Amino acid sequence: MKTPRTVLVTGGSRGLGAGIVQSFLDSGDRVASCSRSSTPQVKEWETDYPDRFLFVEADIADREQSTAFVKQVIKTWGSVDVLVNNAGVARDGILALFTDEDSDTVIDLNLKATIHLSRQVVRNMLAHGGGRIVNISSITGLTGYRGLTVYGATKAAIDGFTRALAREVGSRKITVNSIASGYLRTEMSHGLDDGQLNQIVRRTPAGRLGEPDDIARTIQFLVDERNDWITGQVIVVDGGLTC
Ligand code: NAP
Repeated sequence: MKTPRTVLVTGGSRGLGAGIVQSFLDSGDRVASCSRSSTPQVKEWETDYPDRFLFVEADIADREQSTAFVKQVIKTWGSVDVLVNNAGVARDGILALFTDEDSDTVIDLNLKATIHLSRQVVRNMLAHGGGRIVNISSITGLTGYRGLTVYGATKAAIDGFTRALAREVGSRKITVNSIASGYLRTEMSHGLDDGQLNQIVRRTPAGRLGEPDDIARTIQFLVDERNDWITGQVIVVDGGLTC
């Protein structure tokens, strides 16, 4: 039996984050997650895994709330072995008509909150001798997508953050990778109309949209303790859309 790891997943209440939380609970790990509000799925995990699941209502774009969340996880379980920076937001609209408010919302969560929370967790990983970090980015950061300029910019920035952090902490047994996800069937892709979704599916060699499980399985591979020679990489998981 493997030793349970402490895993912190941001934005685990629904969508991809919920799939990631479930996969670590299925692996026997301890999982801490946060989002701004709870969901029936979160309540179910709290009942089913009272000793292995911790949920905190927190807006991680608010630095005080983010800091308090990480402190609570460390106080509860002592350290963080795996961090999955999943929480993210998209705002659709061509740049010429984009508002400052939408721009700030996307940058504050996808980029600034990810950096702030990672900094706190990295300090803990450095102190306790290692860890795994996986950042959820997007193929829109690689190829660009009309109407997602700011979102794509934050995801490209996260890939850059991944590479630089991997260089900083590589000698300290911490790996840092990004997963550039293709289009998934979650609430976030509800912003795309049927025509856009059908076009994406037609252009995808695998012939379908992604499911949270497609990404969760890749994360499990990256955080496997034997996989300590993959770091600083952007792994594209998109059914072949960008090949
Ligand atoms: P989603 O269904 O909208 O879920 C987002 C999650 O993040 C929810 O749990 C949400 O809960 C939480 N969240 C949002 N704002 C937050 C905040 N300020 N503080 C804490 N938690 C917050 O999105 P998703 O599709 O699962 O996306 C997850 C990740 O995958 C994102 O980084 C996204 O960019 C990336 N991605 C998605 C797709 C796709 O097609 N769906 C493709 C590529 C990459 P609350 O709203 O209650 O806070």
